[in-house]
Amino acid sequence: MQKGETVAGLGESEVLRRILARLGEARAARVGPGDDCAVLGFTGEAVVTTDTMIEGPDFRLAWHSGYELGWKLAATNLSDIASMGARPVALTVALACPAETPIALLERIAEGLDAACRELAPGCGVVGGDLGRAPVLTAAVTALGDLEGRPAVLRSGARPDDVLAYAGELGLAGSGLSLLFAESADGDLAHSRGLAGIRERNPAALAAQLTPRPPIGLGTAAAGAGATAMMDVSDGLALDASRLARASRCRVLLDSSLLLAGFSRQAGEPVLLEAMLFGGEDHGLLAAFPPGATLPVGFERIGMMAGCEPEDPEPTSSARVLLDGAPLGPRGWDPFAGRAA
Ligand SMILES: [Mg+2]
Repeated sequence: MQKGETVAGLGESEVLRRILARLGEARAARVGPGDDCAVLGFTGEAVVTTDTMIEGPDFRLAWHSGYELGWKLAATNLSDIASMGARPVALTVALACPAETPIALLERIAEGLDAACRELAPGCGVVGGDLGRAPVLTAAVTALGDLEGRPAVLRSGARPDDVLAYAGELGLAGSGLSLLFAESADGDLAHSRGLAGIRERNPAALAAQLTPRPPIGLGTAAAGAGATAMMDVSDGLALDASRLARASRCRVLLDSSLLLAGFSRQAGEPVLLEAMLFGGEDHGLLAAFPPGATLPVGFERIGMMAGCEPEDPEPTSSARVLLDGAPLGPRGWDPFAGRAA
């Protein structure tokens, strides 16, 4: 960690002042940070989601700079809002850290949060939060979105013969994670040293892992185009597709030729089919559209939905997703097992 002023040395109100100075406004905030609650204006129903990231299982400060961590915290929550067909409106952020944490780290986290909101979801911003003390850095982000009068796009609405499509990077973040693990088997990669090599050879894969750029604006576009079901892919396409299939009581038929045509080269870097299927953390949007629908620009067709076989109306997860006709299995990231399931 960087030397200099620490959280304990400054005290809560000064820490808060330093953080707030780095946060822009949320357009919908009638009352922003500083009161007991923020006050937000919505035009339709609200959607809300929350996510906790803990140093160790969820991120490593040896890999993520504070800015990158803040960015990722925002991006991963914004993609959940987008996947419901909503427009992100505001975030609240609860940070807990050891007393000796440098204030500079929290300042960089705040800058990353703010930059991701501005670039990925203009108008959205941090409207409140909480600070606390904890043995390791812990961040819990809650995101709110506005459906603007549209119904939410759930996972459960896909129907047989719907087109299955994906928008965003696919497998690139997983490739980045594999590179980080390969460079630091003991988990102790120095941020400046080992990262420099990966950054030189695979800048897009590393950026996808450290500062993902989900296509947030395409969430409302998909809803407008009649998406019947949608989710963001956080745990890998195979596993998340099996969740969408189960919720919709369907099967997903993935087409490897469509996946390879759309995603085998992203940002100038090759991505293997294995990474597209089983790598996680891209936070792109997986959506089903009625047959014949015009897909919003940015979505690529990757397969279709199919009904369940009459003799097997409730297939197991591993039989829910087929690649070129063969069951794929639900491999993906399992946070409790701490490994690819
Ligand atoms: Mg999600």
